[in-house]
Amino acid sequence: MVNNNGIDRNLRPFIRTLSKIKKYSLSEYPDSQIKAMSHALKERAQNGETLQNLLPEAFAVTFEAIKRTLGLTPFDVQLLAAAVLAKGRIIEFPTGEGKTLTAVFAAYLHALTGEGVHVLTFNDYLAKRDALWMKPVYDFLDVSVRYINEGMSTREHKDAYCADITYVTAKEAGFDYLKSFLAYHAEDVVQRDFKYAIIDEADSILIDEARVPLVIAGDIPTLIEIEKKLFHAVSKLERDLHFETDEYEENIFLTETGVDMIEKDLRLDNLYDVKNVDILAKINVILQAQFLLKKDVDYIVRKDEVQIVDEFTGRIMKNRQWPDGLQNAVELKEGLIPLNKGVVMNSITLQNFLKLYPSICGMTGTACSAAPEFHEFYNKAVTVIPSNRPCIRIDQPDVVFTHKDAKYKAVAVEIIKEHTKGRPILVGTSSIEESEHLADMLREAIPDINVLNARNDSEEAVIIANAGKLHTVTISTNMAGRGVDIQLGGIEKNEYQRICSLGGLYVIGTNRFESIRIDNQLRGRAGRQGDPGESRFFISLEDNLIVKYRVNDVIPPKYRGIKQEQPLQNPLINRAILHTQKVVEGQTFDAKLTLSKYSYLVDDQRKLVHKKRDDILRGDTALSFFEKTSPEKYRELMTQVSKEEFERAQKVIELFAINKCWADHLQFIESAMDGVQIISMAKGDPFLHYNQELVDAFEHFENQIGAVIKEIYETLIVRDGQIDLNEMGVKGPASTRTYLVHDGTELQNFLNEFNASVSAPLYAFYLFYDKYIKKRAD
Ligand code: ADP
Ligand code: MG
Repeated sequence: MVNNNGIDRNLRPFIRTLSKIKKYSLSEYPDSQIKAMSHALKERAQNGETLQNLLPEAFAVTFEAIKRTLGLTPFDVQLLAAAVLAKGRIIEFPTGEGKTLTAVFAAYLHALTGEGVHVLTFNDYLAKRDALWMKPVYDFLDVSVRYINEGMSTREHKDAYCADITYVTAKEAGFDYLKSFLAYHAEDVVQRDFKYAIIDEADSILIDEARVPLVIAGDIPTLIEIEKKLFHAVSKLERDLHFETDEYEENIFLTETGVDMIEKDLRLDNLYDVKNVDILAKINVILQAQFLLKKDVDYIVRKDEVQIVDEFTGRIMKNRQWPDGLQNAVELKEGLIPLNKGVVMNSITLQNFLKLYPSICGMTGTACSAAPEFHEFYNKAVTVIPSNRPCIRIDQPDVVFTHKDAKYKAVAVEIIKEHTKGRPILVGTSSIEESEHLADMLREAIPDINVLNARNDSEEAVIIANAGKLHTVTISTNMAGRGVDIQLGGIEKNEYQRICSLGGLYVIGTNRFESIRIDNQLRGRAGRQGDPGESRFFISLEDNLIVKYRVNDVIPPKYRGIKQEQPLQNPLINRAILHTQKVVEGQTFDAKLTLSKYSYLVDDQRKLVHKKRDDILRGDTALSFFEKTSPEKYRELMTQVSKEEFERAQKVIELFAINKCWADHLQFIESAMDGVQIISMAKGDPFLHYNQELVDAFEHFENQIGAVIKEIYETLIVRDGQIDLNEMGVKGPASTRTYLVHDGTELQNFLNEFNASVSAPLYAFYLFYDKYIKKRAD
């Protein structure tokens, strides 16, 4: 019974499951018998019995293992939650209810098949904490568990993925997936096929972070080597003797003498032969870079980088590169070393990565307000699980001030007042600056105030975990410490009763955020497992959210433009703010929809290429372009090397060619995306145009691979019956790095651009697009 908002509150089917679980009473069984049951369950799962069938017994066994190893008795709501997770849904289960333990049931059940379960955590610290914390349970049941942290070796990653259950951050798992695309041997692939993932803090990972592209970049040395050779040949040419330009200096042609000179230099019999078409194209690009594009007119060199100058406004165009090796050629011309430059080899958004798992489920304290997005992007319903004990936290209404100063003063007064009683206080701010500003105001009164702007997960966790102690005041940026349990009185629960009598943890927010979920995460830090707690937001009409979205426009005129120290007392203002948050969430949702529409086709293309590459990597199929297109050279080669040696080289060359062409394709996509808003002005539907361009470009993908393979084969160096691929640089990038494309502003830009009217810089870029990028699509 999923309602219109994608929320399911009907727990009846799961309550039936619960009673089936409860029918097993295993408390009297000796350990050995529980373990034997676990073994039998594995066997049955591997013989094809459905997990849904095995669920009650598997959960009962897990229940006993938890009791015996951790000394905790799982609550009914945890069993319910686990049953929903096992069904592949998203659960909203409040903070502090014990989601880590809940996940163990679902993880164990899915681990029975032996095909691997990933528990995707919010950060490295939690991957390690949760894996080690739950390890005794898994050990007892004889399923293996491992975790991955940054800095671990490839070997350790692989071992971890071979375990039945792997705790790892979603990002790290995504990076490992991208790395597999660069593998040259099947054994270098660290992951097994994806089966099932449990995603912790699911709203953050599946919604907030989902569009962040993960990128793997590397250098492709050979290609640059080849270009260097061509580059040197072109450098020797002289104007009028070897080449000519038209009167506008827009086109450049080689003369007969020029062609002779190039052919001699590169030892080609005929530059215009079909087989040399690629070389000719490259030479044209280099000619253009060398003799047409002018430093300080068309581009400037700054910080060892070639930056393109907008020909109309004279401004630098940020993050733009020329396509088709033109950029590299200009860099070579300027004596820069393009070798060190990262070429994007592959990239995937977290959203598309997570969709590679045939089955995912997720858990978080705040899922409901994101339910429409879970439904739209993942086709998942959100199920609400009640807390074990009712939540008695008091969520106070917002206090609104006219200006920031008054707000901070009021926050400081409030903190000092409550702190004097000894009550623990956690303050969530919107930025590091704000947290420091507030701490500075308070330091005199509260010398041992904690300010949390450390970037280190584990330090963060320790500070947050102690935020529930008597007399503790912690000021943090808002998202700090997600996933960390704040116990009243700390882990030792010192003076628990006294803290309760003070009202429990007091959470203060100094801003409302664009997403109500983030506000609720902050509130949810207080009042865990039926503890007392309180939350309150202090806001001002000068806050970012209010200014940016012009909430002032809907506020009665008499409150505008005034400054007063006392809070404003008008429920209308509070409603206007809440309304704004809803509108912003709606807008963001629409923009996300549009953007994700743009990613569908690329995603399909990526899957096809991955599959093709995988097949070659595993030795199932070879592309064999070379045998087909150059049979003579092939026969010649076969007299020089053994068949095995040829096949070894062929595999590496083919894998390399796929990577190279995919990297080019990605670059093309980026340019096509850049052109999107221009096309919307010029030609109507940008989406159709964009898709068509991608389809067209991909149509030649196979041919491009063929061309790269051929180019490499023709210059192969054979030494003592061995094909020297290292010399050719056909070994993939010497080094790679993975990074996230910093998001944040992108969505906003996107929104702005779509609303933007025609402007001079856009028009300039349109001409640029026309001149350089469109050629590729032709
Ligand atoms: P969540 O991820 O839901 O916020 P955690 O998994 O971090 O919560 O657990 C919060 C706290 O609840 C932990 O200290 C854990 O030991 C405790 N806890 C979980 N389940 C139980 C249980 N069945 N009985 C007692 N304590 C529990
Ligand atoms: Mg948690």
